[in-house]
Amino acid sequence: MKNIKLRQNELPFPVTNFEDKTNKEFPFYQNGAKYALCPTCGSSVQIINGRNNVTQNRSKTIYAAHTKGYVNGLKFDENAKLNCPSYNGNAKNWQKIYEKRAGKIKNSEVEKYITLNIRQIALEVEQIIGFKCEYGEGRQSRLFNNLYNSFKSNDGLYIDPNQFVPDYIPRLIIERADPVKCWGAIPNNEIIKEKIKNNIRLEKSLDLGGQFKPDINVQLVGVLDDDNNPARLEIRLKFSDDILVLNRISANI
Ligand SMILES: [Zn+2]
Repeated sequence: MKNIKLRQNELPFPVTNFEDKTNKEFPFYQNGAKYALCPTCGSSVQIINGRNNVTQNRSKTIYAAHTKGYVNGLKFDENAKLNCPSYNGNAKNWQKIYEKRAGKIKNSEVEKYITLNIRQIALEVEQIIGFKCEYGEGRQSRLFNNLYNSFKSNDGLYIDPNQFVPDYIPRLIIERADPVKCWGAIPNNEIIKEKIKNNIRLEKSLDLGGQFKPDINVQLVGVLDDDNNPARLEIRLKFSDDILVLNRISANI
């Protein structure tokens, strides 16, 4: 996982801010190793890799993982951990994140987390869909706002506290949203531009300023490959009776 928390009633923050947030105080910093809590189940996690940390592995990328057992001064809840969507020990456990649990209340922690991290979330959505989402200075593109508003109207914020995994929010926004209008959106990479130019119905739809302005009705949609057993999230442009696949990513992180 890429986000952690220190106390139960606290918003998750990126694992890269560990030292800044903890001042390396006990119990978070012990014997040169770094610990925190899982933002989803509240059980202890250890930080792996990164600077000034004895816990290293070959991947070199910084992340957090549930601890095997009790860590001095931190909560360890084995049952919560085994049921946690972020716990890698259970195959396909993460798929619970895409379940929609009806009848629950709006999760204000999720909303606060998104508001506080909107820039980073928009950048991640941008990387996945291939269209500009983040303009800087707190401005997001209309396409991003279309996706986010649709996610909210489809009860996207009604996430069970024990299913809120911050790392998945960009994917969830895309997955939960309806097909949305994308006229005027700006492709942000050459692969997407080439795909659009090579499609017979869309070949003339990129204007000189790089904006996507098709003369037919086109919507952007993110779909799971398997409703029951999702493995991939596919980004498509949908028009008339046709689709153009823009990107395909793992539904798992
Ligand atoms: Zn957990």
